[in-house]
Amino acid sequence: MNANVCRWIMDAIIMLGLIVAGISGAYFGLEPVSPLFILGIVVSLGGLIFGLLTIRCPFCKHLLDLRGFQMVYCPYCGQKLE
Ligand SMILES: [Zn+2]
Repeated sequence: MNANVCRWIMDAIIMLGLIVAGISGAYFGLEPVSPLFILGIVVSLGGLIFGLLTIRCPFCKHLLDLRGFQMVYCPYCGQKLE
């Protein structure tokens, strides 16, 4: 899969998790911590792990910058990313 698409998906998953955690924190409070808040955090971490596994150069498999913008060429091997 395209690394730039994967970065977008990662951002969307992390955002979703933070929104779920934020809403549950605002709604139910953090004393005690609600299961929904924990779920949100887990979803966010899952998004980060997804990014670490998928935002890679398809040629040299090097991890690309998670926070970068549209990347056209791999900074490690110079191949064009599709
Ligand atoms: Zn590369």
